[in-house]
Amino acid sequence: MTPANLPESADVVIIGGGIVGCCTAYYLSRQGISVVLCEKGQVGCEQSSRNWGFIRKQGRHPAEIPLMIRSLELWHELVSETGEEIGFHVGGTLYLSETEKRHQANERWMEHARNFNLDSRLLTVAELEKLAPGIRNQKRGGLYTPSDARAEPGPATRAISRLATRHGACVLEHCAVRGIDIEAGRVSGVITEQGRIGTSSAVCAGGAWSRYFCRHLDVTLPQLQVIGSVMATRPTASCMQVSLWSKGMGMRKRLDGGYNLACGGTADCEITPDFLRFAHRFLPTYLKSKETVNLKLNRRFLKEAAWPSRWALDRETPFEKERVLDPRPNMKLLNLAYRTMTRTFPELAGIGIARKWAGMIDVTPDELPIIDAIDTIPGLVISTGYSGHGFGLGPGAGKATADLVAGHRCEHIDQLSFSRFR
Ligand SMILES: Cc1cc2nc3c(=O)[nH]c(=O)nc-3n(C[C@H](O)[C@H](O)[C@H](O)COP(=O)(O)OP(=O)(O)OC[C@H]3O[C@@H](n4cnc5c(N)ncnc54)[C@H](O)[C@@H]3O)c2cc1C
Repeated sequence: MTPANLPESADVVIIGGGIVGCCTAYYLSRQGISVVLCEKGQVGCEQSSRNWGFIRKQGRHPAEIPLMIRSLELWHELVSETGEEIGFHVGGTLYLSETEKRHQANERWMEHARNFNLDSRLLTVAELEKLAPGIRNQKRGGLYTPSDARAEPGPATRAISRLATRHGACVLEHCAVRGIDIEAGRVSGVITEQGRIGTSSAVCAGGAWSRYFCRHLDVTLPQLQVIGSVMATRPTASCMQVSLWSKGMGMRKRLDGGYNLACGGTADCEITPDFLRFAHRFLPTYLKSKETVNLKLNRRFLKEAAWPSRWALDRETPFEKERVLDPRPNMKLLNLAYRTMTRTFPELAGIGIARKWAGMIDVTPDELPIIDAIDTIPGLVISTGYSGHGFGLGPGAGKATADLVAGHRCEHIDQLSFSRFR
């Protein structure tokens, strides 16, 4: 991309080429709306290629279950619409009830499943052993949703971006958006590192960067970041197809025959200036989940402290200086996950590890996304804060975001408004 071939204008400009930005681009361009999507790195380079690949209704907050039900319907359609191998497979999700506390939490969640008519059910140990061949040491059963699915995150996100392109969207990689141009109080364009694109509509789908991006617009987005670490095992003959989650382990069968493996829901959180700014808002959630969050004070604090709160749009910004968030995986957590896996599936002991990585997850205080128009800046829509479970939601979220931008009635997002944080 050079300034010479930057589109002069578009109906909508999307900031961020993760699963949410790509799906929004697809569902807008399918309606004949002209779209430019700007991605500072490569499509899917941050969370959307680094996640576990669970596509689940199970365990979700009731506020996002309707959107997730819709999303799963759209995933099924996307398999044929993309025409590419995206690793989509309906293999179900299984949460182990390793302790009485877990069992009770699983039992409590069944109430939501019943309210939404989901096919979730509690399993006995015998049923569990049938579903997850080779599993050992289970004293209680688990919670299972057979209609849940999985997909390969990077290939799926890139396939959806190509699908959007086929419908006329212009996807620009290596093109950071530095800010929004506002005239007469409303969006009139976006300023990229390559120049200006005129538009009356901008969508911020910047994942972990959304909070910082919105800062120059005086929009205070309460969002922090946590780091999730993952590894991929080498291919194995083990045939367990269900995506499994327990306290010390998350496991999902990969298209290449291996498993993605991580340490349950445990994550690292680097203390940053925003962490201190938003501490009061995140405290209740932190207290509920403090066993699964490791706080760390390191160089990131000083790095982010040096970032300006306002910046000139004709100069390099942090979006270009740190093109791709690529945190280091936490080896302690990954070793724990490996040990938990071999205890749970002794036949997998000794399986080789092919790759390790980590991803920066954007979280909101109530761990629910924000999909909303910003009323102080007409023309600006925000679709972010997917709090570690936005891959599965991606198609539904993109469709809802596209509907919001196009002015159509938008179902399922009533409880995901920005105003809940004011
Ligand atoms: C380790 C891990 C495990 C997870 N597991 C699951 C799971 O199993 N299931 C699930 O549903 N979800 C999971 N998630 C969460 C899921 O990956 C995210 O919620 C989802 O990918 C968010 O998509 P997004 O498009 O909002 O953000 P992202 O994928 O982060 O995309 C945002 C994009 O915006 C770009 N960007 C930011 N600012 C700018 C700018 N100024 N200009 C241009 N581009 C910009 C970034 O480069 C980035 O590519 C996991 C996440 C991680 C990290």
